[in-house]
Amino acid sequence: MTGFIDVHTHLHDSRIINDVPDIVLRAKNAGVKKIATCATMQENFERTAELSEKFSGVLPCFGIHPWFLDTLSPNWEDNLAQWLEKIPSGVGETGLDFMDKGADRDLQLGVFKTHLALACDLNRPINIHVRKAWDAILKILKHHGPLAAGGVIHSYSGSADLIPLLEKFNLHISFSGSVTRPNAKKVVQALGAVSLDRIVFETDTPDIVPQFILDAHPDKTPLNEPANVPQIVRVAAQRKCMDFQTLARHGYENSLVLFGSVLNSKAEHK
Ligand SMILES: [Zn+2]
Repeated sequence: MTGFIDVHTHLHDSRIINDVPDIVLRAKNAGVKKIATCATMQENFERTAELSEKFSGVLPCFGIHPWFLDTLSPNWEDNLAQWLEKIPSGVGETGLDFMDKGADRDLQLGVFKTHLALACDLNRPINIHVRKAWDAILKILKHHGPLAAGGVIHSYSGSADLIPLLEKFNLHISFSGSVTRPNAKKVVQALGAVSLDRIVFETDTPDIVPQFILDAHPDKTPLNEPANVPQIVRVAAQRKCMDFQTLARHGYENSLVLFGSVLNSKAEHK
């Protein structure tokens, strides 16, 4: 058994921050060897950096989430670049979210392009959030060209036919607890379309609680954690009609490729 990597979490989240030592231990016991944790705004950069220093299997990403652009400080670009240069890390969570009709789309586009440029300049993978903004992201990618250090579309919610296009830009496609929903028709179609050398898995801890956890705790609202990755892969394998071990191995190896530059510089940084 090779193991698992959770490519997208938020361990800095105030709902779980005090439980992180136990969460990391449970993940390890479940075979989850690495956990990528994404900051979402400048305010949680320091906490994210501390988590990666404290826990050797935690890989940090620094970025400003499209939901939190009202937190941008005047010098946010320099500040982000400084954290990325100081700590072996990926870029993110960043991206485009056009679900809310009132969102400032031009601001989102500008901020995302800055993240993309930093990822390119510093040769770092990028952890991308996309909701209802597929035309916009493809336009940016076409203009930019394939990402030298790669990246991932987290908790993929787009259509199956976009996947081959996204893969051409050196992007991995990540599946979360959303594959475990009984009505996950669109996600299951996407699972069928993704290449075996591009698929990766995540929890988006503490959110997107998988169905098997919700069903086991009908009386409360549990939180998600990286220890749930193996079970998410198991459900994905059933829904993709393939062998669990084979899918798990691909997910693990792909994640090592995705975070290769971060893992190498983290090893040197020690
Ligand atoms: Zn997230």
